[in-house]
Amino acid sequence: MYELLRQACDTARAAGCSFADARYLEIDEQTLASRDHALAHNNESRDRGIGVRVLYRGAWGFASAPGYEPAAVDGAVALALDIARASAYAPRADGVGWADEAPWQAEFHSDYARDPFALPLAEKADLLLAANEVMLHNPAVKRAQGYLAFRRVRRWYVNSEGSELHSDVTSSSAMLWAVAVGDSDFQQRSWQAPSVTRGFEAFDRAQFVAEAERIAAEAEEKLTAALAPEGTFDIVTDSENLSLTIHESVGHATELDRVMGYEVSMAGGSFVDRDKLDRFRYGSEQVTLMADNTLRHGLATHGFDDDGVPGQRWPIVEDGILRGYSTGREFAHYIDQQRSRGSCRADHWSSIPIVRIPNLFLMPGKQPLSPDELIGDIEHGLYFEGMDSFSIDQWRLNFQFGGNAVWEIRNGRKTRMLKAALYQSSTPDFWNACDATCDERFWRAHGVTNCGKGDPMQVAQMTHGAAPTRFRGIRICRGRD
Ligand SMILES: [Zn+2]
Repeated sequence: MYELLRQACDTARAAGCSFADARYLEIDEQTLASRDHALAHNNESRDRGIGVRVLYRGAWGFASAPGYEPAAVDGAVALALDIARASAYAPRADGVGWADEAPWQAEFHSDYARDPFALPLAEKADLLLAANEVMLHNPAVKRAQGYLAFRRVRRWYVNSEGSELHSDVTSSSAMLWAVAVGDSDFQQRSWQAPSVTRGFEAFDRAQFVAEAERIAAEAEEKLTAALAPEGTFDIVTDSENLSLTIHESVGHATELDRVMGYEVSMAGGSFVDRDKLDRFRYGSEQVTLMADNTLRHGLATHGFDDDGVPGQRWPIVEDGILRGYSTGREFAHYIDQQRSRGSCRADHWSSIPIVRIPNLFLMPGKQPLSPDELIGDIEHGLYFEGMDSFSIDQWRLNFQFGGNAVWEIRNGRKTRMLKAALYQSSTPDFWNACDATCDERFWRAHGVTNCGKGDPMQVAQMTHGAAPTRFRGIRICRGRD
């Protein structure tokens, strides 16, 4: 399978390129969506193609082509070379730094027990429809929806340094929604199954049914929820809610290409400039945020990245201090690192690799602490569960996040449901207000399958996670109800 890719790199080298790599990808996807008592759609796609990247006299060229025919590969190399030669007329003033990496010959296979692509459609549809039936059993629920999404990416990668790498990664994700309708209002409650690099065994029918029943009841409860109070309160976030906050306020903020001004299209640059490394207090001593592209079942765990660098584990924030960034080979030198962190990925064979958020999670607390104990210390506060609307500024600094369900905490207990609550803060204020997170028994992972970045936009996947976590003195305001 490597032969044509090897030839592509040889052609580029013979043309004077200092580096070249070539990828061939086979991408299979299936998405099923349900609506009330029926399957709304079933989309299946098979997509194959190559991408060739060359570095010529300090300028990049990239080209791609569908399929894996010799003529297509030759054409992509020729076009990539033309683009690089043209770009070399106006090279970047600071050149292209390119971190050294050993040549690797390796394979990575994500493990799964039940191949979702091999199962009959009926078995997959039945899982969604069983959940919908349960949701619709609640008279307040007027619409029940769900989806299952499966993705398999087989990748063959060769570079001019001698690396030959193959990965075969299957991932599965799912979501359910219940929409309850009242006299003058409607409310939605959702449940997201943790997205993972696993097969259909990741989904448990009994869990789908139980979660369907719960979100239906909570959608109904939201209809009569009180408007959230405004002011300053202690808050607790569940792992899914905090995963989005980690993603937006830490993950994107510490992408080194964004820090260096290479990414401004999607919510701007970053306040986490290079001078802050090893100095800046990002959060309290409770806050250790670990990047880990070796995390088992993590959506960003592919064995190696699209620069040919193996997955790694490293701290982004350790005991509250900024300790790292996500990098690719082109960016490591900006923070005087000899080696890339291996977090440069392309979302498709026709896309160039860019620095992406790794699997990134808040480490659980070291002392035994249950959610009840965490909440028990709060006189008047709010408990945020799940993801809802959010907004963050162009420096990844000032933000607000809602929750899919929010409860009031009174005298150490979760009480009535609230609606329209948003927590507002700035990234360092928020993370410095963290005073406790539950221990590893309560830690959960949550996958993000729709992270947009780049121009044209690329959509990447990664896994976040946290245990329920407490933040003191956070401003609460009201959004739409
Ligand atoms: Zn994102």
